[in-house]
Amino acid sequence: YFVEPHLFSEQEVTIVGDDVHHIVNVMRAKPGEKIVVCDGAGRSAVAQLVSLSAKEVTASIVQFLDEQTELPIRITIGQGLPKGEKMEWILQKGTEMGAHAFFPFTSERTIVKLDAKKEAKKLERWRKIVKEAAEQSHRAVLPEILPPASFRQAIASAAGYTQRVIAYEKEGGSTLHQVFAGMSPGESLFVLIGPEGGFSLDEVKQAELMGFQSVSLGPRILRTETASQYVLAAASYQFER
Ligand code: SAM
Repeated sequence: YFVEPHLFSEQEVTIVGDDVHHIVNVMRAKPGEKIVVCDGAGRSAVAQLVSLSAKEVTASIVQFLDEQTELPIRITIGQGLPKGEKMEWILQKGTEMGAHAFFPFTSERTIVKLDAKKEAKKLERWRKIVKEAAEQSHRAVLPEILPPASFRQAIASAAGYTQRVIAYEKEGGSTLHQVFAGMSPGESLFVLIGPEGGFSLDEVKQAELMGFQSVSLGPRILRTETASQYVLAAASYQFER
């Protein structure tokens, strides 16, 4: 379970929110039972349940864990908003595969339209999906989902990353292998993936002007929801042994 860092001390944790219902009513847990808790920022521990109520659960720390479940390079997926439920799939699988953060954006060929009300509801649902996926994968870091923004905002936000790439199927470009060969553990990568209709040449040029490198993800055209998984799997293969 993820616990807010300020409710996570060296001795005990306090769990509030939806997880209380899960622990008390779904798992029907009792004092003395053990759970695994994380603060979402890299600290995780085994904790023993002490008290359970409808509002909060407290547990005392038994042992801190040094499970290494984070990808050695931090990867942010800039994802062109896809139609239907595909974003949920990308978030769930991307979290299992080790993504550090997600930045959904709209671009020239985006089909879906999100108004403010729909957007707030979606974000809430997306964060829940990521949290559950992170728990099931024993992630020590809870991936962040940034609120949907424009393509321009997405490329501007990547300025602090070690490497910035735009996945583009039409041109030679570099290979992901070449990009990874120039990177070391501890560095960060921002990768832009287009929506179903892909990127326009103008967008690729704009990204290149902002320091993005155009990359190929191989000779086959991948669906938009497959592209991020390819990048994450390749990073695991390259950096994890
Ligand atoms: N029409 C399909 C769909 O509905 O999903 C394919 C969409 S593909 C154009 C979507 C995005 O995936 C592209 O904008 C690009 O970022 C990425 N992509 C897919 N295959 C790729 C490849 N072989 N090399 C580089 N990028 C790729």
